[in-house]
Amino acid sequence: MMNQQEKVYDLIGVGIGPFNLGLAALLDEVEDVDTLFFEQNESFDWHPGMLIEGTKMQVPFIADLVTMADPTNKYSFLNYISKNERMYQFYFLQRLDIPRREYNDYCQWVAGQIPSCRFSSCVSNIRHVSDNSTYYEVEVTDVDTGEQTLYRAENLVMGTGSVPVMPKSFQNLPEEDIFHTADFLKNEDRCKKAKSITVVGSGQSAAETFRELLKEQREHSFRLDWITRSPGFESMEESKLSLEHFSPDYVNYFYQLPQKQKDEIFATQGLYYKGISNHTIDDIYNLLYEFSVGEENLNVGLKVLSEVKDIKPKTDGTYEIECYHWQKKETYTHESEVVIAATGYKPHVPGFVHELTDFLEWDEDGRYKVTADYRLKKQEDTAGEIYVHSGISHTHGVGSTNLGLSVHRNKVIINHLLGRDVYPMSEKSIFQTFSTE
Ligand SMILES: Cc1cc2nc3c(=O)[nH]c(=O)nc-3n(C[C@H](O)[C@H](O)[C@H](O)COP(=O)(O)OP(=O)(O)OC[C@H]3O[C@@H](n4cnc5c(N)ncnc54)[C@H](O)[C@@H]3O)c2cc1C
Repeated sequence: MMNQQEKVYDLIGVGIGPFNLGLAALLDEVEDVDTLFFEQNESFDWHPGMLIEGTKMQVPFIADLVTMADPTNKYSFLNYISKNERMYQFYFLQRLDIPRREYNDYCQWVAGQIPSCRFSSCVSNIRHVSDNSTYYEVEVTDVDTGEQTLYRAENLVMGTGSVPVMPKSFQNLPEEDIFHTADFLKNEDRCKKAKSITVVGSGQSAAETFRELLKEQREHSFRLDWITRSPGFESMEESKLSLEHFSPDYVNYFYQLPQKQKDEIFATQGLYYKGISNHTIDDIYNLLYEFSVGEENLNVGLKVLSEVKDIKPKTDGTYEIECYHWQKKETYTHESEVVIAATGYKPHVPGFVHELTDFLEWDEDGRYKVTADYRLKKQEDTAGEIYVHSGISHTHGVGSTNLGLSVHRNKVIINHLLGRDVYPMSEKSIFQTFSTE
């Protein structure tokens, strides 16, 4: 029997990653709005498989959950530092890019203070209801007890984030041998016992995993290889003028372009979000150089231009990896005991959203149709919105998964939800002009 909540909330959020946690934090300061946010995990834990020691945030600490909207907000990173009596340590750290583990600890500190955030609560279904009034029904399952409760809200916000991409050739193989970087830390001990490890991919996660294993190799003597189909282990575009693509100005410019042109532009912008940060590449090169002093054979391989086509288990417990060198048009095989897929993430659109086929508008590629102010387009102009954080790179551009811009998105969502400019928007916030005006 499903419990029923009579109260109709102004907004219910699905998923509590940084994007919805930021929204909950900003709305926590707004009196006249009733909200609830549901997260299936028992607590906030940000990409736990990649909280590798020494990894840093790829955005300055100012891109915390609230500061870009309101530097005086009590949930700011600097207030977290102050409340945890770390002001002098942080002051003398003299860095904008904080450790990834500290960002996670900061978000947990925020999540622990916001009453509207409910954990161990999986949203299993949503429905749009239009009887005497119009609202959304949200079915929530308590992950621990299995108990189901039906909530109601005038508006929803989808913050279900992303899920790891496991290419076909990596699937249906023993998870302790073939796994995604998202599960790296829980498999690290397995790696240390292996005779050979191969990392496949060339993004930031691939580089961080390779760097960590390169350090471990000294002690555990496994063979270590890094393979990518990319032409090189390329650095992310991080120059200050390029970073202006992660601004509201660029989002507004990109949004108004025709969809076909947006898809073409997005396909050329991989190095804005897919490459490797320069400091990580430097770290790796410096380690390779130092470890090669007086060493005949480093027992390390770095291969580019090589697409992994297939992975077959062998009788000796290793795997034969079939690689295709796409410039030489030659196939070769490589052996490894462990294969780590650093093959990225894709937006997580829950099945129950896909079932809203008659209610929402989708483009011919089955992607969301979204308004400029982050509302899913509906087939009929009914009351009640579904705001969205993820799965919108095709409409709002390369910065859609960026933590800094998520605060801007939350300002836009709050202004629309409350029907007033709680957060005034500046006309121009960068030096470049992307449009003709
Ligand atoms: C290793 C890594 C490092 C990154 N570092 C940076 C960085 O330094 N700077 C930057 O700008 N970006 C970074 N990113 C990109 C991006 O900021 C993150 O992916 C960010 O986590 C996106 O936040 P989110 O809230 O959309 O999603 P997520 O963090 O993926 O959270 C979504 C949440 O929704 C929950 N959920 C899903 N479905 C349901 C449901 N049905 N019911 C209840 N809960 C549900 C999930 O359990 C999850 O907790 C990084 C990404 C990765 C993978």
